[in-house]
Amino acid sequence: MKDIKTLDQTYVASTYGRFPVVITGGKGCIAVDDQGNEYIDMGSGIGVNLFGYSDPIWKEAVIAQLDAVQHTSNLYYTGPCAQLAELLCERTGLKKVFYCNSGAEANECAIKAARRYAQLNKGDDFYTIITLNNSFHGRTLTTLAATGQEKFHKLFQPLTPGFVSVDANDSEALSDAVKNNKTAAIMLECIQGEGGVNPLNQAFIDTAVQLAKEYDLLIIDDEVQTGNGRTGTLYAYMQYGFLPDIVTTAKGLGGGLPIGATMLGEKVKEIFKPGDNGSTFGGNPAVCAGAISNLKRIDDALLAEVKRKSDLIFSTLNGKTNVKSVAGMGLMIGIEPEQGTAGDIAKTCLENGVLVLTAGGNKVRLLPPLNINDAELNRALDVIANAFANGKE
Ligand SMILES: *Cc1c(COP(=O)(O)O)cnc(C)c1O
Repeated sequence: MKDIKTLDQTYVASTYGRFPVVITGGKGCIAVDDQGNEYIDMGSGIGVNLFGYSDPIWKEAVIAQLDAVQHTSNLYYTGPCAQLAELLCERTGLKKVFYCNSGAEANECAIKAARRYAQLNKGDDFYTIITLNNSFHGRTLTTLAATGQEKFHKLFQPLTPGFVSVDANDSEALSDAVKNNKTAAIMLECIQGEGGVNPLNQAFIDTAVQLAKEYDLLIIDDEVQTGNGRTGTLYAYMQYGFLPDIVTTAKGLGGGLPIGATMLGEKVKEIFKPGDNGSTFGGNPAVCAGAISNLKRIDDALLAEVKRKSDLIFSTLNGKTNVKSVAGMGLMIGIEPEQGTAGDIAKTCLENGVLVLTAGGNKVRLLPPLNINDAELNRALDVIANAFANGKE
């Protein structure tokens, strides 16, 4: 058999800097590689494997649906698609759901909805969307334009016009940008994920909500990473006491199968007519059946556990050698070293049996499965603390 790493490097487009590990199996929080090495996975496939590898409850839901219908086109009704939408709406207060297959696509739909709303209610030239520096909204040309990181903009000019970005938590800059542009919407992540696990502060959210009211703007809340129990509430906005007009999610919702969802609030619930948007795979019944099973498990007891484990991470890592700061909410945590790079620390963790992610601002990022147990968590934190200590020269 040909070596997997060589095959991949020869034939798969070189868009990723991969760790030198071939994952061949896993159970719960443990990933197994082709050499039989085990790792505690503190990244869960970038917050996707909500209940870890090969979770029996999720698998049963998906397999039962595979035995019934694996796919039909969106020209027909299917149960899981409708039932998942009901669950999402009932638990958020948003009104309708559009399905697609990824976070970027969910954001594309949100942007379309906001533009259409502004076009109908304010005029053709009110299309500007204010986003935040250090945000991340996806890899399509439009969601790249929405992503407030110059390094992503240079390679693929021209990007979709109509995006202006300001610093997160700078209420004055946000207010100026709204006034100086013909604005349709404000787009934000309550906690910037890829950008460095930076939570927005309450005053900034309050300003956004106030501006939205005053200027009839929509608030698009990108919960692709923060959503689905990750931060200790079903969606992170719930901890800021406001209801966004549009919420997008993806990553953890499907528990390991691709799904994106754009939840449309009262103002935009009827914005799309048949033909205005669509997706061949969107609302796939097997993926939706898995997502329903996941959502039903994200109850108060699980969310309380997420918060408890979050406190454990903060109290264990705060003050440890070479740990400059610990930030985040729930099981979405960013840790900044005083010295050394997050990349080197991640490498040391890997060599010691723990998979972690990195993020902007030289952060080590943790997004473990929500059901990680205390023994695994403590073992992982031990390795992480040691890797930070080793990072000090
Ligand atoms: C990952 C991510 C995206 C992009 O999701 P894809 O599924 O990779 O398209 C968008 N927004 C946020 C906040 C993300 O974390």
